[in-house]
Amino acid sequence: MKNYITIIGGGLAGTEAAYQIAKRGIHVKLYEMKPVKFSPAHSNKDLAEIVCSNSFKSNLLTNACGLLKEELRRLDSLLIKIADETSVPAGQALAVDRDIFSRKVTNAIEENENIEVIHEEITDIEKMAEEGIVIIATGPLTSDGLAKHIQKLTSHDKLYFYDAAAPIINKDSINFDIAFYGDRYQQEKKKEETIEEWKKRLEEEEETQSYINLPMNQEEYENFVKELINAEVITLHDFEKREIFEGCMPIEIMAKRGIDTLRFGPLKPVGFDDPRTGRRPYAVVQLRQDDKQGRMYNMVGFQTNLKFGEQKRVFSMIPGLENAEFVKYGVMHRNTYINSTELLDETYNLKSNHNIYFAGQITGVEGYVESISSGMVAGLNAVAQFRSMQTEKSNKVEDKNTYISSNDKVLPNKVIFSEYTVIGSLAKYISTSNTKFQPMNANFGILPELEGKKIKDKKERYTKLAERSLEKLM
Ligand SMILES: Cc1cc2nc3c(=O)[nH]c(=O)nc-3n(C[C@H](O)[C@H](O)[C@H](O)COP(=O)(O)OP(=O)(O)OC[C@H]3O[C@@H](n4cnc5c(N)ncnc54)[C@H](O)[C@@H]3O)c2cc1C
Repeated sequence: MKNYITIIGGGLAGTEAAYQIAKRGIHVKLYEMKPVKFSPAHSNKDLAEIVCSNSFKSNLLTNACGLLKEELRRLDSLLIKIADETSVPAGQALAVDRDIFSRKVTNAIEENENIEVIHEEITDIEKMAEEGIVIIATGPLTSDGLAKHIQKLTSHDKLYFYDAAAPIINKDSINFDIAFYGDRYQQEKKKEETIEEWKKRLEEEEETQSYINLPMNQEEYENFVKELINAEVITLHDFEKREIFEGCMPIEIMAKRGIDTLRFGPLKPVGFDDPRTGRRPYAVVQLRQDDKQGRMYNMVGFQTNLKFGEQKRVFSMIPGLENAEFVKYGVMHRNTYINSTELLDETYNLKSNHNIYFAGQITGVEGYVESISSGMVAGLNAVAQFRSMQTEKSNKVEDKNTYISSNDKVLPNKVIFSEYTVIGSLAKYISTSNTKFQPMNANFGILPELEGKKIKDKKERYTKLAERSLEKLM
């Protein structure tokens, strides 16, 4: 067994993991392919490059990403510390000067005597993982050579190459004076039913239904389409346009093809009657259950490239979504990620090879801060495993090969954060089977609900969740 831990990828997750390991006195070899090779979105030769927005999102504890940052501060995250030090005015958000941020992280890593940075693209990890612990943190734009190798390692159908996700909404924020549950066709009023009988049937079926429907009249539909086609979109890189649009069309592009296109596509009203009127609506937006507990619903057919603020503005025009809380906005971008729900455990450790950890966006966590948090968890667990292997090694000097084989069931003292914390709930989310695994960012919907009577006021509820989280952290 090697006397160091290997990390591949010197982005946000990889550098955080390296710092956590080095801080505990263990040597790290950190492989970063820049500046020898750059991904289509990276251009700075420093480590921990911020590829897009310079915002690490809200700093408020009543925001799940703000709470996650506070958890990471308390766990001595190097990257959040440097983000605080290099922040620029951004109201309640934490935004950084991206160049100074990356430079400072690079200095901290390069000056650390326990870390060796090697500028090389890695395309094969099998041998490395036979000899010791490896953390793969190569991000959403993992180089093609390594992506192919990961595909082989995790079996072919378990690697996704882009994200075309629709927004996800917190069910509690939907207006059920307008919305109604129901699968297409089961919701039509039968000829022999009175309106009362029909409503009663719908109510009885309600709990078992996995779709929520939002009916629109002609005026509502036309106003919505008008705003949708004029809304501001995110500019994609050329490589993304080529790859993504081949697979899936954004709703705003579809809407531009003609006023009725959506009504004959994802918003078709066929199979539904509006329980308020007993008549078929002009159009229907459908929401599909997204998590096992039925607390989150995704907007069916709403893959979109609209800017996040525009998604909130335009999609909130849909009757029933006036006060919708968007747990996650829709995205369409190149994103390489593994099917973590099947492949990883809560410590980001590969179930089929305990010498391999994954960290960062490649695990299906989404966002800068979320990637840092997974780097922290993977790093701490790699340390625990390394120490446990060292102990075993000193106890079994003569029996060298029995404990280092990559498929040994090495079960060190794992570092698993409480599911009541955001760092722990994210790790649990990505490693627990979901209806359809899609990358996830920090949000209150993945934390267990508060005990006792539901608190209606959102700010009060989030404050309580944050207090509980910080209490359970240590
Ligand atoms: C175009 C784009 C825009 C984004 N915009 C935002 C945003 O605005 N806000 C947000 O929160 N998140 C955004 N994200 C997501 C963002 O990338 C992640 O949140 C974060 O950077 C992921 O951190 P990471 O450490 O997993 O990967 P990265 O930070 O990308 O780091 C991975 C590192 O691995 C290196 N690498 C790749 N392959 C190899 C290899 N084979 N060998 C050695 N090194 C390798 C890369 O050069 C890179 O330095 C965006 C992603 C993309 C692709």
